[in-house]
Amino acid sequence: MEAVKYINTNRVINTFIDLLRINSPSFDERAIGAHLASILLRLGLEVTVQEYGESFNLIGYLRGSLRDVPTLILSAHMDTVEPTVGLNFSIEDGIIRTVGETVLGSDDKSGIAEIIEALEALSESKVPHGNLEVVFTSAEERGLQGSKNLDYHLLKGRHAIVMDTNGPIGKIVVAAPTHDTYVMAITGRAAHAGIEPEKGTSSIKAASRIIAAIPDGRIDAETTANVGKIHGGTANNIVPKETIVEGEVRGHNETVLEKTKETIFNTARKIARKNQVRITIEEKRQYKGFRFSIDDPLLALLGEAFSKSGIKPEHVITGGGSDANIFNASGIQAATLSSGMQKPHTTEEYIHTEDLYRGSVLVAGIIETFAKSASGEIR
Ligand SMILES: [Zn+2]
Repeated sequence: MEAVKYINTNRVINTFIDLLRINSPSFDERAIGAHLASILLRLGLEVTVQEYGESFNLIGYLRGSLRDVPTLILSAHMDTVEPTVGLNFSIEDGIIRTVGETVLGSDDKSGIAEIIEALEALSESKVPHGNLEVVFTSAEERGLQGSKNLDYHLLKGRHAIVMDTNGPIGKIVVAAPTHDTYVMAITGRAAHAGIEPEKGTSSIKAASRIIAAIPDGRIDAETTANVGKIHGGTANNIVPKETIVEGEVRGHNETVLEKTKETIFNTARKIARKNQVRITIEEKRQYKGFRFSIDDPLLALLGEAFSKSGIKPEHVITGGGSDANIFNASGIQAATLSSGMQKPHTTEEYIHTEDLYRGSVLVAGIIETFAKSASGEIR
């Protein structure tokens, strides 16, 4: 491992801090994008800005000197959840943490910083490598909008690592669920609640009965369901005509997932009928799940890179989705790795500087391991 020796802890910390200082909530990634584009250009990458409706994705391409090595995609997302306004942080005892009422934004600025540090080390070490593609997406935190709107024709690579999960360096997400959402519109009949309530049919009452009856929470080890939003009614003196119930179902097993949805929707329709309200149900696939087989060549290669980098791999099955779900559904095999972020999406978010270092070592180690893999080994 040659490039790994050039990983510089202070440099990756500074890169990370520079990123923290640029506010980048979802759909407001212009400033961080410009900053990252200038870094990628300095490191010798060709940079493409791929615009879509509300934002853009940043794609960098670095031609390697080695042929016959598969192109490797390195990915992370530029946006963060909020609150971020007035973000302040402290560095103490090797921990960078948010101070005050904002998140830190290590989700996913730690992933970005580690990818950049690996490229810095690679450039300094002059170690030969294959073609590399950097994909910095936007609005990941708003339903994976960047990766969903990514123009996959622009990418040459078919294998990706996504530096975007929490916990110490070493985690590899080997399975993620399919995620479906639904909206139930329940329509009753309005009436004056004081004068002639008998003439009304309450959609809120019907919705309550539906919510009480449908399965939710943990359905089984691989399936979850939740009603997350409800709104209805207009005033205390009107029997409510319209109520909207929104929910989701996630599952690693496609058959159980479909069955769970069927139960939820059929139960809802039955109760609606009984309560003499109309119901329409619209469902939407947010993303498709994936699962690596245990003997997958990409997993084997990552395993080799982990051991060469002195990092113990831990295979995990997640209940959440990430850009990797969209990459995998779009023909790019993608594994999500931990970037070291801790307690993301909270105002207690932090990261160990040691994990910024280890994450960078890992990315550099994966690039070098890829470079040594013979063509055809991974497809
Ligand atoms: Zn993230």
